[in-house]
Amino acid sequence: MNRYTVLDIPGYEEVVRCDNTEVGFTSWIAVHNSNRGPALGGCRVWSYAREEDALVDVLRLSKGMTYKNSLARLPLGGGKSVVFADLSKVERVALFEAVGRFVDTLGGRYITAEDVNSTVEDMVAVKRFTRHVATVGASGNPSPFTAYGVYCAIRACVKFRYNRESTKGMVVAIQGVGETGGRLAELLVKDGCSIIASDINRENIAKLRERISFEEVSPDAIYEVPCDIFSPCALGGTLNSMTIPKLQCAIVAGSANNQLLEEIDGNRLFDRDILYAPDYAVNAGGVINISCEIDQDYDPERAKTETAKIGETVLDILRQSKSMKLPTHLIANRMAEELFGMQRAA
Ligand code: NAD
Repeated sequence: MNRYTVLDIPGYEEVVRCDNTEVGFTSWIAVHNSNRGPALGGCRVWSYAREEDALVDVLRLSKGMTYKNSLARLPLGGGKSVVFADLSKVERVALFEAVGRFVDTLGGRYITAEDVNSTVEDMVAVKRFTRHVATVGASGNPSPFTAYGVYCAIRACVKFRYNRESTKGMVVAIQGVGETGGRLAELLVKDGCSIIASDINRENIAKLRERISFEEVSPDAIYEVPCDIFSPCALGGTLNSMTIPKLQCAIVAGSANNQLLEEIDGNRLFDRDILYAPDYAVNAGGVINISCEIDQDYDPERAKTETAKIGETVLDILRQSKSMKLPTHLIANRMAEELFGMQRAA
């Protein structure tokens, strides 16, 4: 049986904890802000070291979704759920059915979707107990749309930096060629770019080799290869005080979440005159695609057209950054905050 506890967390509209000892999990749902609409964000399952870590994660991630959904101009707020469980020890279907009941208690103020360690199949179990779940309709795998959004962002950066409509002849270094990085590489090769790639997973390198030609470098070497564009498509935190001085590129734009290890790393890129397209503006294609199945018939062409608007958003950020002489990550945050109506202290 699910047992619920409402938590009072300053700066968050609603945070609820759910304990279920029979199934064996604890979960939290956080609605950070719903000024633009119901809070959309995935359901992350993780075997955290401590309960506090799970709560910190849901708060951080839900806030991030408010910024991402707002900057993408979606009629959606920001929320997230995390499930603290050991998937090897729980009955998976029972777990996600219980999560479905939990999501339903928020009455549609929070909409869930798959995320790290939860799949579309898991969302089918969730949907048996709530209709407030996306991605089980027609929109499917978000990765092609995320990759397409990164591609549009890169084109916008190239236009801004070089006043060129095409990326033809450019060298792009891609860190991580999985679901998004691999697809991005294919799109760029079609435009006449050369790709330099690194990945710690040999299988993903081999899969990409079957589709395109590219140069491979080691995971450590990817930061210092001379290139026009560096595209982080693996992990968070890879732009930091150790890696930024090594970069030999003019533009950074990739799919990875939380690329800047610290806020100050955005300033470090700015000081080096490297154009940084803020991660959550760039990688919104997946959530834009999902939004196209909420309360409407899903149309993949419309999802693609909406995703392409990421290019306009990135251009807007770059222009404002130049005119205000401020790093792009700060401009993106301000734009998002205006869009979700956050009052800044004077
Ligand atoms: P993925 O797991 O399919 O691909 C990531 C790849 O990076 C893997 O091939 C992995 O082996 C590789 N990798 C890991 N560590 C590496 C390292 N140190 N050096 C080089 N390669 C390394 O994941 P994905 O779906 O492509 O997502 C990539 C990033 O984009 C993640 O940060 C994810 O949170 C973010 N993101 C993805 C989506 C989406 O729709 N898939 C949407 C928004 C954000």
